[in-house]
Amino acid sequence: MKSYNIIGRGRIYLLDLIRGTKVFKVLRELRQQQYLSKEALNEIRTKRLNHIFQLAKTSTAYYKNSTTYDALEVLTKDAIRAHHNELISSSYKKKLFPKGTGGSTGTPLIYLTTIEAKTYMWAGLLLSWEIAGYEFGDKVAFVAGTSLIKRDFKHTVFHKILNVDSYSTYTLNDSNILTYIKKLQSSKTKIIFGYPTALDIIATYIHKNGPFAFPCLKGIISSAEVMTEANRTNISSAFSVEVYNQYGCNEAGISAFECEHHRLHLINTRAFYELDCDNNFLVTNLINEGFIMMKYFTGDRIEFSKEENCPCKRNFPIIKNVIGRSYDIVTDVNNNILHAAFFNILFRQDETIKQFQIMFDKKTITIYLNVESSMKDTSYYNKYLDVIKKHLYFNEYKLVINAPFLKSVNAKHRYVINAAN
Ligand SMILES: [Zn+2]
Repeated sequence: MKSYNIIGRGRIYLLDLIRGTKVFKVLRELRQQQYLSKEALNEIRTKRLNHIFQLAKTSTAYYKNSTTYDALEVLTKDAIRAHHNELISSSYKKKLFPKGTGGSTGTPLIYLTTIEAKTYMWAGLLLSWEIAGYEFGDKVAFVAGTSLIKRDFKHTVFHKILNVDSYSTYTLNDSNILTYIKKLQSSKTKIIFGYPTALDIIATYIHKNGPFAFPCLKGIISSAEVMTEANRTNISSAFSVEVYNQYGCNEAGISAFECEHHRLHLINTRAFYELDCDNNFLVTNLINEGFIMMKYFTGDRIEFSKEENCPCKRNFPIIKNVIGRSYDIVTDVNNNILHAAFFNILFRQDETIKQFQIMFDKKTITIYLNVESSMKDTSYYNKYLDVIKKHLYFNEYKLVINAPFLKSVNAKHRYVINAAN
């Protein structure tokens, strides 16, 4: 075994030791679990589901009168806020950690997590990095806003041990981007993990001002936002490495990673899930035994692939599409609804359009387009208003070219903003 890998393993051991996690053990478990048969995986999750249901019944005020799992009501974020203390299990004796969800809009949800749930989250992430070539100890760059980067002392130490450098996406201007590129090169970064919209901006800069070589870079993992295929191609060609998607919803115990064949596999032993008739992803976290959430309304909509078997031989189910947060919808004057995916499909064919944002209120819809600066005649884009008029009725339709986008506080790109709220 190579010496650097011993040091790398040492880092993970050290982290487990300091934090009380068992990431190393669970990662090993997941590496084996991914190749188990579907029946064996089902058996594990059914057993865990029965356990968590019984535990909830006997140790939480919220679930004490529940009869069967099927009869449970959907647990909304509002219900969690209203019944926070009733969801805490009296049998769980270890420390509970408050955590906020990184929601793009509205008030973030505060929930409680356990050391076991944190362990699974990290093991799931490391599994996704390993597909991109990650080995313990490798230099990793986080290119993200607040939901992936925490800046307090504890997290700084944690990042040091894990060998992670943070790159904030708050101000991605040209001079910052160049500094970032130089740092990625000089630090011999092996893995980049971050928001696709931020990576896309950096990639576009590289295409325009490069080439820049990243000989040490093994792969890039996109997370926390929906990555379009245009994003993926742009980022991959700029950095000359493969780009993999990672999807997580930590409060729900959801973690999915893309395999070598770019199928998004859901780790189905950490969460029990179902889809309602609108494809809303309702999830029970099977690992968090301290703050029990069953049939939690994640706010994500999911489409599973019909593909039964992946060439990679992993038996974790394949997510075909994360349709996005449910609030990524536009509602017109007549209450017709259109999902952000519609605009994605509408604009992705047009190479001159780099990014879009839709803002609407009760009367007006405004389409913000970020387009190639060489496009002098912006009336060319009016044709899109005609398409939108066929699908949505508003009193007023506006088109704004190359104005700055509104960002959420954590710098995630928001495709749809409902200004009526
Ligand atoms: Zn696969």
